[in-house]
Amino acid sequence: MLGRCPTGKRPHYTRKDAKNAAKRHKGGRRPIPYTCDECGLWHIGKPPPALARGEIARDEIRQHRYDRRRVLGEDA
Ligand SMILES: [Zn+2]
Repeated sequence: MLGRCPTGKRPHYTRKDAKNAAKRHKGGRRPIPYTCDECGLWHIGKPPPALARGEIARDEIRQHRYDRRRVLGEDA
């Protein structure tokens, strides 16, 4: 069923929607859009550690299907 994700995060159907949601985020570090391995849709979340360490560029994120536990490890 669309609109439900096992992770409990709000799904976005396009990268653009996810980016717009990230822009509306208030406070703290802006979340990044990423594709979800559970539902295949887009979510926004904290940047993965590799991004924070400067090992990858923000623009590279979309080309990786990040394991959500890496992306959201701090929330788990
Ligand atoms: Zn999902």
